[in-house]
Amino acid sequence: MSNVQEPSFRDSVDLMFNRAVALMDLPPGLEEKIRVCNATYTVRFGVRLRGKIQTFTGYRSVHSEHMEPVKGGIRYSLGVNQDEVEALAALMTYKCALVEAPFGGSKGGLCIDPREYEEHELELITRRFAYELAKRDLIHPSQNVPAPDMGTGEREMAWIADQYARMNTTDINAKACVTGKPPHAGGIQGRVEATGRGVQYALQEFFRHPQDVAKANLTGTLRGKRVVVQGLGNVGYHAAKFLSEEDGALVTGIIERDGALIDPKGINVEAVSSWIRHHGGVTGYADATYVEEGVSVLEAECDILIPAALEGVINLSNAERVKAPLIIEAANGPVTAGADDILRERGCVIIPDMYANAGGVTVSYFEWVKNLSHIRFGRMGRRQEEARHQLIVEELERLSKDKDLGWSLSPDFKTKYLRGAGELELVRSGLEDTMRTAYQAMAEVWRSRDDVKDLRTAAYLVSIDRVATSYRAKGL
Ligand code: GLU
Repeated sequence: MSNVQEPSFRDSVDLMFNRAVALMDLPPGLEEKIRVCNATYTVRFGVRLRGKIQTFTGYRSVHSEHMEPVKGGIRYSLGVNQDEVEALAALMTYKCALVEAPFGGSKGGLCIDPREYEEHELELITRRFAYELAKRDLIHPSQNVPAPDMGTGEREMAWIADQYARMNTTDINAKACVTGKPPHAGGIQGRVEATGRGVQYALQEFFRHPQDVAKANLTGTLRGKRVVVQGLGNVGYHAAKFLSEEDGALVTGIIERDGALIDPKGINVEAVSSWIRHHGGVTGYADATYVEEGVSVLEAECDILIPAALEGVINLSNAERVKAPLIIEAANGPVTAGADDILRERGCVIIPDMYANAGGVTVSYFEWVKNLSHIRFGRMGRRQEEARHQLIVEELERLSKDKDLGWSLSPDFKTKYLRGAGELELVRSGLEDTMRTAYQAMAEVWRSRDDVKDLRTAAYLVSIDRVATSYRAKGL
């Protein structure tokens, strides 16, 4: 970040927290207790690779234990540092409270560029890191449950789960020590797409409220809205894919590490994603205009901007020029506190990270519950459910044949109605319900209080109040 006035990520989160707390009436001292990070563990360990010992630095920060286990991803990136994991752990606390996932906040990271290592090397490194954390109960089904984040995914979570299980052979709940595992290793359907899906549900919910949409100077629905997405990683890819394929939004800009693509007519997200997989970046993709200075596209004319990569990308150096009237923070902390002031001042509506990207931890919660209950979602009661639906269908079919009633069933009613709900459908409906309920809690505060000018402050107010309530209930 070029500008010297820019606070660190951790300070940025604290500034936003303070802005909300100033509007609350918390008992003295409680506000500080909630704000501070309880502990951050730093580990340096060596792994013998390519004939020599390499030392790695990793962190696991625990922000708040008002509920246990604490929860949050593990990130693999060269940018990982203590300030970053602490900021991310704090955001996890507020995020979980907002979507009512019964967890405290935590986050971990390893300073590593995963692209520089072979798969078997990454496995060695991950297992060793997991060993160091599990030894100190920083991976544990009832105390600290990691998940994927930037640079990690199902594969790493499977290694972590296996490492924990080897160290705790008698723990029947060992699988619940980490979420985001592949379905065949105790994971749950729909976890990979969950964060992007959550972004889609968040936007769908936003556009169900015309009075909120009007605050962003927009009208109508998602159909035809011009969307610019930064980062076509797991979150950005799924969000852009679902919004364009299912809601009729136009992805007019895609920003990646090596440049950006723009096309006012809309870009095919699937085609670009496949191009990136084969060529390592967007350069050379022929079906859109290539812009070498990718970040400049954050400033493009559009209706919705989705930063889905790193923190701090919208900062004091570019906030003035960002034109999007609506920003949805798919990444954690993409807008700095300073940029947030500038954008708010201008009337830009920001759907904040702690809500917008909470889909991941929500489905992690479902996975954790599934692991602890040792039963697949939807397994029990399915037959009975189907039999009840069959009765209704038969009755409706009988009635629809009655000419006097003058109505008929639509041709696909029976197939649709009897389709039933497998694990994926149950996960998606649980996620949708969670995102809608959390939006309403947050938006209610935004609409009803004159002193609350933005959704972020509203989200903090709801979250902090819930964390405070649980501290009050259980004592410190
Ligand atoms: N890393 C994700 C996040 O930032 C998911 C955390 C989780 O599932 O525990 O929210």
